[in-house]
Formats: sequence, C-alpha cells, structure tokens
Amino acid sequence: SLLDQYGPRDTMDYDVVIVGGGPAGLSAAIRLKQQAAAQARELSVCVLEKGSELGAHILSGAVMDPKALTELIPDWQQRGAPLNTAVTEDRFLFLTAERAYRTPNFMLPGCLQNHGNYVVSLGNVVRWLGEQAEALGVEIFPGFPAAEILYDDTGAVKGVATGNMGVGRDGQPTEAFQLGMELHAKYTLFAEGARGHLGRQLIERFALDEGRDPQTYGIGIKELWEIDPARHQPGLVIHTAGWPLDNETYGGSFLYHLENNQVMIGYVVGLGYRNPYLSPFEEFQRYKTHPEIRRFLEGGKRVSYGARAITAGGLQSLPKLVFKGGALIGCEAGFLNASRIKGSHAAIKSGMLAADAALAAIVAGRQGDELADYPTAFAQSWLKEELHVARNFKPMMSKGLLTGALLFGIDQLVFRGKAPWTLHHAHADHTTLKPAAECQPIVYPKPDNVLTFDRLSSVFLSNTNHAENEPIHLTLKDPTIPVTVNLATYAGPEARYCPAA
Ligand SMILES: Cc1cc2nc3c(=O)[nH]c(=O)nc-3n(C[C@H](O)[C@H](O)[C@H](O)COP(=O)(O)OP(=O)(O)OC[C@H]3O[C@@H](n4cnc5c(N)ncnc54)[C@H](O)[C@@H]3O)c2cc1C
Repeated sequence: SLLDQYGPRDTMDYDVVIVGGGPAGLSAAIRLKQQAAAQARELSVCVLEKGSELGAHILSGAVMDPKALTELIPDWQQRGAPLNTAVTEDRFLFLTAERAYRTPNFMLPGCLQNHGNYVVSLGNVVRWLGEQAEALGVEIFPGFPAAEILYDDTGAVKGVATGNMGVGRDGQPTEAFQLGMELHAKYTLFAEGARGHLGRQLIERFALDEGRDPQTYGIGIKELWEIDPARHQPGLVIHTAGWPLDNETYGGSFLYHLENNQVMIGYVVGLGYRNPYLSPFEEFQRYKTHPEIRRFLEGGKRVSYGARAITAGGLQSLPKLVFKGGALIGCEAGFLNASRIKGSHAAIKSGMLAADAALAAIVAGRQGDELADYPTAFAQSWLKEELHVARNFKPMMSKGLLTGALLFGIDQLVFRGKAPWTLHHAHADHTTLKPAAECQPIVYPKPDNVLTFDRLSSVFLSNTNHAENEPIHLTLKDPTIPVTVNLATYAGPEARYCPAA
C-alpha cells in the first residue's frame, strides 16, 4: 500500500479530535474550549472538515430553533450571529394538483409552529460558529477529510487519519502526492452528518444499533431562489404535504423566505417509497409548478441547488452514542426531529453534551474509554423530551398521508405526544421497494428551464468540484448487482433516485 511505501505518517496529538465542521462538531469544539477556560485548563481541540472551507458542504437555508445556540453562546445576538430573520408567519398546506387547503394555525401541532425561530443560511451560521471556535483557540483544518479510524491495541478509537492527497484515478501517487496524517486524541467525536462514512463503520464495528429500530432516511433536495421583491415576505414559512406525491409516499416541501429577497425551497422524499419509477428530483421540480408555489418563483432566478440525506428515525433509531474512545454527535447519530424537519438545534445540543462528558473525563485523567456521562445527560435533557414527543411521527406517517396526519394530529393535540405507546419502524427503507412489474411508470414533464430544470444543469449549480484525475469515490461492492437485480427487477431505480444523475 502507499502507506507501506511512503509511511509512517506524521502524527499530531490532541485532547479531543472532532470529525466534521457542521453545527454539531463546531458546537462541541466551542463548548470544550469554553468549559476548559472556565476551569483555567489547557485543552487542545481540532476540527477536521472535508469541505474546502467551513460551510461549503452545508445546504444553505433553514429554519433554526435558537434554543441550543442560546445555551452555547447566550450573547449570540451581540456577537453578530447571522440569525437575522425571525419567522413572521407559518402556513401549512395540503396540496392537490390544482388546489391548496390551509390548515388553521390553531390546529397545527407544536412541531409545525415556528414562532420564535429564525430563517437562516445554515452555511453562514456554520461560518460564524467557526469564527467563535477559532477565537477560543480551536484548530480548524478545512479541506481535510478524515478517511480512516485508528484503533489502539485494546480496540479503542485513538483518533483518525486524513486521506492521502494527490492520488490519481489509477490509485498511484501523482507529483502532488502527500501522505495523510494521523491525529491522535484522548477522545474523538464524530460529527459527519447524516449517514457519515466513518460513523457507519463505527456503528457496525461496535454494534451500536443493536436492539434499535433501523434508521430511516429521506432525500432532501433544495434550491435557493432570488425572487421578485413584490412577492417576498421575510420570515414567511410554508410547509406542504400531498401533491405531487401520492397518499402512500412519505414526503413534503418547505419554502422559507430569507432576507435579501431570497427563498429556500425544497422537498424531502422518504426513502421508504415503493414505486421504483419515482424520481425525488422530478417530484421536486413538479411541485414548483403548483399554482400556490409558482406564484412566489415567477420572475425570479434560481441561484443554487443541493441535495442531502436526512435521518428520520428519531428516538427509536438512535444508536448507542458512545464507544471506547469516542462518541457520535449530531446527525451522525440521527438526532434530527423529523416532525419539525429540524436538526441543527439538536446537533448543537448533542455536541455540547458530548463535550461536557469528554472534558469531565479528561479532567479526571481518563482517556480512550466510554463517555457514559453523555448518554446519561442526553436522557435527562430537553432534547430527549423533544424527540420523545415526536417519536410516533414517522411510524404514523408511514401509514400514508391521510391516516398518518389524522393519527399524528390526535397524538399531538389530544395526547400532547405523551401517549403510552411507542410505534416502531418495522423495516429498513430499501425493503419497501416493489418490483417494477407491480408498478406504474411515472411520466414526468420536460423541464421548462424557467421554473423547472434538469439534473445536470442543477448539479452545475451545486458547487461540487472533483478533479478529473481523482479516484472514483463511489464504488460497487458487487458490480453484477446493478444489472442482475436493480435493472432486472426494479427497472434501475438508481438512475432516478440519485440527485446528481
Ligand atoms: C433538505 C434539508 C433541509 C433541512 N432543513 C432544516 C431546517 O430547516 N432546520 C434545521 O434545523 N435543520 C434542517 N436540516 C437538518 C440540518 O441540516 C442538520 O440537522 C444539521 O446540519 C446537522 O448538523 P451536523 O453538524 O450533525 O451535520 P452536517 O451539518 O451535515 O455537518 C457535517 C459536516 O461534516 C463534514 N464531514 C463529513 N464527513 C467528514 C469527514 N469524514 N471528514 C471531515 N469532514 C467531514 C461535512 O462536510 C459537513 O460540513 C435540513 C436538512 C436537509 C437535508
């Protein structure tokens, strides 16, 4: 291997290494440094971020609940945090192909009310968190993906190694070759976001999901638009359910009015959908043509595009959070509250809880063991309470939109989320896909390049850059499966579900 030829790798030692510079990772770093300073202790913390800069890989617009941020940095307003647009109005619409039926706000469960929240660019929030972290002495390394987990002789995580740079498509070093580095730590916190590459390895190796429900996922597709100022209403938040998806398919849209005449519009489709002909990207394009939605966009211009996975399993799918030498935080663990499509506050809170446990352990002279205080603190936190109240949302919505909305309405409005039962996610998403022979092909309209677009021109706007001569990062475990199974039985659904074509 290249390591045998060019190794050994350089090593750097830290008290805590954090993988991923999103809301979870940066909040953990900030909390560690704040609490260490309060105890007049030296503590070395570094954050590895694979994006070329902080925020580069964060999908921009979001409605943010400031609760956790206020706990982390109580004077965030004075420090200029970019939470500039308070939510001014909530609308929840059930769509049919032609009409929109608005749910009266008094009938909306608490999870769909956004009073007190802010419409933000999450990328800007992350950049601002990065500045706060750096001011506290956190070392941040953008452009450095953690590629490998390092274990000590006892099997505990002892850190991570960054990937080798300057490797060609053939796997051989180019003239820009640089061997990766090892970052060793007393504790390593993994904050890669939903379905993280290293997180998945940890879940498997330490059987962290044993006895938990399978994780469930959605694919979220977003566009940022600059719209006609006459149609812009800063702080307006619109969610929809229904058309263009059928009653059986879990999903819905969001349309958030930010500042500067910008709106973030997006669609989430649950990956437990049944019809292999469904294309989440095309459903999103179609949704924008609804009369109630297009009226905001007409005369406007699309600025950017992006897509990401989102975890939706909630409390029942939350893996064990700790293992020897480290912990999972944020969406890497799956803290997102699917009933609110919000995870940034949960990411911040979980980062803080893990940070407190790590600092206490280091102060006590420990390292490389399980941070049991973190799950204990989570169990006593408002985050646990919030996820508990929301726990039946996804299992109920999996029963279809109308039944799900009715059941969840009762669950929230009558039982206030405290019903004495917990429904489970019976199976992993992929098991629900039906053979193509049992399904109707879906014919999607051609893009008009005004409101609706094709995937390649969209990917162009996603700011994703890969060098021509770099190793292919999506590889098939078994190259025969796409033809013998995916194509033969399911009409090749990967041609449709991939938002990057
Ligand atoms: C379509 C969509 C809409 C959403 N809307 C909202 C909303 O309105 N409100 C809300 O609160 N939340 C929303 N969320 C969820 C929110 O984005 C996440 O909950 C939040 O970003 C999670 O923070 P995180 O730090 O755990 O992970 P992320 O924000 O995903 O950050 C992970 C970071 O780690 C980096 N990384 C990953 N792997 C590595 C590696 N191996 N090495 C180095 N770096 C790595 C990534 O580049 C990234 O910067 C939405 C999500 C989606 C997909």
